[in-house]
Amino acid sequence: RAKLDGKGLARRFDPELQRQARERQQMEIDLAQALIRNEFEVHYQPLVDPRTLEVKAAEALVRWRHPGRGLVSPVDFITVAEETGLISGIGSWVLSRACQDAASWPSHMRIAVNLSPTQFRDPALIETIMGALSASGLPPQRLVLEITEGVLLLDEARTLTTLELLRAYGIGLAMDDFGTGYASLGYLRRFPFSKIKIDRSFVRDLPADRGCAAIFQAIVALAGALNMSITVEGVETVEQLNFAAEEGCDLVQGYYLSRPLPLAEFHLFLNRREAA
Ligand code: C2E
Ligand code: MG
Ligand code: MG
Ligand code: MG
Repeated sequence: RAKLDGKGLARRFDPELQRQARERQQMEIDLAQALIRNEFEVHYQPLVDPRTLEVKAAEALVRWRHPGRGLVSPVDFITVAEETGLISGIGSWVLSRACQDAASWPSHMRIAVNLSPTQFRDPALIETIMGALSASGLPPQRLVLEITEGVLLLDEARTLTTLELLRAYGIGLAMDDFGTGYASLGYLRRFPFSKIKIDRSFVRDLPADRGCAAIFQAIVALAGALNMSITVEGVETVEQLNFAAEEGCDLVQGYYLSRPLPLAEFHLFLNRREAA
């Protein structure tokens, strides 16, 4: 007992831990103001047909333009946003922004938006989504929501009802980072996904790594059998692009094609592609 207390005391005065706690607190304060200060941006990464290189969709990825720190990656603030409940506000802002931006793109193009587990617990989620669609005029068939397994671990019955409702409206549902969780296979059968995104950890060592190639091919076969389309994340080389094309994948996404781009640059990318 004395030992435990001693440890706790040491921890409380550890300058590194104190610095981290202060930083976290500051982050919460800054994050709470970021929305009203209009500091968020949505960048768009193209999703491309690996055979024709035609841009078929884009994924909306949020960034935070922090006045002191510059552009902050979602990896560094989404968790804090979830834990503080700020994600609902940020998430609905991203959704409206993305739908509004995508409404002006060629009508064959879809927009994919990430949803976090906390957003899923929000009873107003359906209303938020419908609001973003009606305000922008974007047809529901052009919206895809990307969901990770964390969402599905919540209240299964309620999650299923929500997902089925979204599907009934014509909204696409993608299982994001497929293969990284614990129960991916069972979830595929139970929930109404329209597409699978193969996590980039299965792509990194392609095509050389035989084990990765085998898993990759099995996932593609599974998606085919379940009538789901396949997107490949993290395509960084021409060899990976060709591999995805040969395996019959529907879409590829990755630095080889383009990084996520601010809206104006994304439009330039589209125009250059159209001209080519
Ligand atoms: P994600 O949904 O799996 O998004 C793909 C991530 O991979 C993005 O990171 C993207 O920039 C990165 N990426 C794309 N191509 C490549 C590649 O070829 N190589 C490598 N190494 N990385 C690549 P980003 O933008 O930092 O986003 C990280 C995660 O943050 C996302 O992972 C998503 O889970 C979350 N996120 C992003 N925007 C939002 C949002 O608006 N709402 C929520 N709830 N989560 C978001
Ligand atoms: Mg995603
Ligand atoms: Mg992903
Ligand atoms: Mg990911």
